Amino acid sequence: MSHSNIAFQPPLTIAPAQVLRGHGLLAQVGGAIVQLGQRPLVIGGNHTLATMQPQLQPALEREALQTAWMSYSPDCSETTLATLIKAAKQHCADVVIGIGGGKALDTAKLLAYYQQLPIVTIPTSAATCAAWTALSNVYSDQGAFQYDVALVRCPDLLVLDYDLVQTAPRRTLVAGIGDAIAKWYEASVSSGHSQQTLIIAAVQQARVLRDILFQKAALALEEPGGQTWQEVVDATVLLAGVIGGLGGAQCRTVAAHAVHNGLTNLLASHDTLHGEKVAYGILVQLRLEEIVQGNQLAATSRQQLLKFYGEIGLPQSLDDLGLTTVSIADLQQAAAIACAESSDIHRLPFAVETAQLMAAMVSTTAKEVRREERGERSEQPASHPHREEGISHTPHPSPLAPHSTNEVTA
Ligand SMILES: [Zn+2]
Repeated sequence: MSHSNIAFQPPLTIAPAQVLRGHGLLAQVGGAIVQLGQRPLVIGGNHTLATMQPQLQPALEREALQTAWMSYSPDCSETTLATLIKAAKQHCADVVIGIGGGKALDTAKLLAYYQQLPIVTIPTSAATCAAWTALSNVYSDQGAFQYDVALVRCPDLLVLDYDLVQTAPRRTLVAGIGDAIAKWYEASVSSGHSQQTLIIAAVQQARVLRDILFQKAALALEEPGGQTWQEVVDATVLLAGVIGGLGGAQCRTVAAHAVHNGLTNLLASHDTLHGEKVAYGILVQLRLEEIVQGNQLAATSRQQLLKFYGEIGLPQSLDDLGLTTVSIADLQQAAAIACAESSDIHRLPFAVETAQLMAAMVSTTAKEVRREERGERSEQPASHPHREEGISHTPHPSPLAPHSTNEVTA
């Protein structure tokens, strides 16, 4: 039998080996960690370590674990990783625990990957799905996005303690909602044509995730700690991770994250969270589809998102991101980086130039101009990814359609 047609696919890294969810988990997590190692190295931000160490330490001591604690300051960067690798060797660490937000968890996952150690993630907010995924972003010491690293597996243990997440600022959950809805707007463009079973599943889950958040985000934010709040936390921390896992490397980000990556090069953008910049990036992506393609669906989707953003407090413009006084030169630099040759922005089904991106970045809140008003015929471009033949995915939703999670795909 010939195997000549069988090519190796990258390994599937769909989910953590174990996910613990509940209240007051931090105080009882030692029993699960001792299964993985006896000498943990805990990685977190300075502030998180100061507040979490007194809570976590007793749980680890009860299992007689020998624990070392290290900050990932100044950032999830190559220099920090070099320092942490030394510290891991010095401590003879046999398990890594990451506790905190996306950058703390990304740093811990990278360290465990390089040292081939088991990894435990404990998210302290619902701002990203970093606790779940087999992916880490690497930044410069100054916080500019550099590149991402595909890891060999998802974490060995994810501990989602709702009590812990509830202590995080409201804004972190809002940011997590922005990052999570981006999955649909990006995956439907990058992978909407795919005939591969798992990728189709990932794109459809991204739509379900978006619908859950459209339905529940506002109520969740009104009642922190309530049942709806918990479902929304599950959506941003867990389901968003499922989509990344199912979709894998082929279900890539597109313009929303490319815009985020460009913005990280501006110092003034560092006061906003990853998901806030990504949420703004979705509007930029839709605006590009409008400007370059004349795509009416994108225009409608953008208006729908502006309304949603207004309700929950996601940034709609550069002003909202605190970039009111950004210079043309800085904006051009961010746009040029977002348009670099290797950027995922080029997964859009049309070419994008820096000037077009800048135009989109400054006009995210523009009113919808109907083609009839411009005296043109309202025709959809045939090349729109959501409207091609084959497995057809639901287009960006109509504002008239109910955001039902069980709507049938057209
Ligand atoms: Zn993201």
